[in-house]
Amino acid sequence: MTNPLFDALFAPHAGQQTPFLHLPDGGAIGYADFLGMAAQYANALDSLGVTPGDRVAVHIQKSPEALALYAGCVQRGAVFLPLNTAYTPAELEYFVGDSGAALFVCDPGEVAEVEGIAKDNGCLLYTLAGDGSGSLKDLRADQATTAAVAERGEDDLAALLYTSGTTGRSKGAMLTHRNLLSNAEALVEAWRFTAEDVLLHALPIFHSHGLFVATNVSLLAGGSMIFLPKFDVDTVLARLPEATTMMGVPTFYTRLLDDARFTRDLAAHMRLFISGSAPLLAETHERFAERTGHRILERYGMTETSMNTSNPYDGDRRAGTVGFPLPGVEVKVCDPETGAELPTGEIGVLEVRGPNVFKGYWQMPEKTKEELREDGFFITGDLSMIDADGYVTIVGRGKDLIISGGYNIYPKEIELFLDEQPGVLESAVIGAPHPDFGESVVAVLVAEPGGTLDLDGIEAATRANLAGFKRPRHVAVLDELPRNTMGKVQKKELRDRFAHVFQAQAS
Ligand code: ATP
Ligand code: MG
Repeated sequence: MTNPLFDALFAPHAGQQTPFLHLPDGGAIGYADFLGMAAQYANALDSLGVTPGDRVAVHIQKSPEALALYAGCVQRGAVFLPLNTAYTPAELEYFVGDSGAALFVCDPGEVAEVEGIAKDNGCLLYTLAGDGSGSLKDLRADQATTAAVAERGEDDLAALLYTSGTTGRSKGAMLTHRNLLSNAEALVEAWRFTAEDVLLHALPIFHSHGLFVATNVSLLAGGSMIFLPKFDVDTVLARLPEATTMMGVPTFYTRLLDDARFTRDLAAHMRLFISGSAPLLAETHERFAERTGHRILERYGMTETSMNTSNPYDGDRRAGTVGFPLPGVEVKVCDPETGAELPTGEIGVLEVRGPNVFKGYWQMPEKTKEELREDGFFITGDLSMIDADGYVTIVGRGKDLIISGGYNIYPKEIELFLDEQPGVLESAVIGAPHPDFGESVVAVLVAEPGGTLDLDGIEAATRANLAGFKRPRHVAVLDELPRNTMGKVQKKELRDRFAHVFQAQAS
């Protein structure tokens, strides 16, 4: 009997009394107890008629129970399908319907809202924790703490994970046992995780970052996690002394830097800080190094592939880059039109091949064919460049590229320039339809706290330093940039909001 993920991540810890999860209240859950909970969930799923390959959609807050349910799904051979806790019932309807889930697990407070969705899609509805009547947690409490391990092959699905929906409607990425296991192995090797590691985990677990990167790496290495329900500076500062490593999105690091209590002393004992899911500004990287002496290790990945590249553990961690391909992963930069590989230093679309690359988009064979080449390379849609030393730089998303009067404009180049201007905290550059040029540049600026922006001065600086076609023709100031829970700037939202600015000029 084999079940690749279960055999590698869970089975080796059977009977192990060492802690796996350190809890917010100071308590801990040991490996053996966690595996007991997982087996109970596997039995509960069995009793509900969930069979291997069935999708289990979960829309619940982060908790040890939620993580044990993930483990129980792996043991039972079910396909785990975590959903962003911010999704509204209207959004959930799409995911539950699209995935054909057999079971939908929600929080007690939302039963009334989602009951209809479950009924319409013919799936069972359970709460996780509850008021004591009929929750999945209650069901697990009645089960044995050992369970059969469902037989699964390397190419069988372990998870159906929907993309973040930054560029359009979320797509279900089919992730196999091989995908998730090979990635955990590559990351443990690249980042030197061991059983001694205590990972500060303040990420959500409905996304690849918190679920597969952080959790699978800790499980494979046999280490433990300080398992916090969410990122909160006070709690993170209080718990950091117990940690050896931390994984976060860029906003975690800027929020820590904004707090004077985050000192060199507090970070001195740490082995590693890792950032991903959104671009880490070079400025944040440098400020962090100045404050703590640590160079944040930036890596790059996506729902469809888990992690692709990482800055080196031992070598030079270069700000603004995402480093080298992980062990077993190949990357190349290709011409977006012809697909031909481009020489070093040229900007094109990054393509990735390796055991980490997903099996395809759920029930989207055409889309899968468009983006997953027959030779195994996946077209990421991210514009990038590989330099002479082999470092990969993500220049931006293909869908964010602005084409104005026939020129290609990379928003990131202009954003980096604007971010340097006095009083600017951050910026986002987008294209808006323009009657003459097709598209023209819109800059959205956020001022530093308590400051004001000298917009004339900024305009003069852009005139002096940027080619005419790159210069923002419309500048707007917002209190903050729209971001999702992973810290990704929602450019689609900005594009919608500023879609008409040049039409007024034309009339
Ligand atoms: P959708 O595919 O639905 O539009 P999404 O691409 O935001 O949403 P995810 O899979 O969560 O969904 O995000 C992956 C993307 O995040 C990558 O393709 C890349 O654009 C971006 N990304 C991740 N890590 C980094 C990084 N270190 N630097 C720059 N961009 C990053
Ligand atoms: Mg994407």
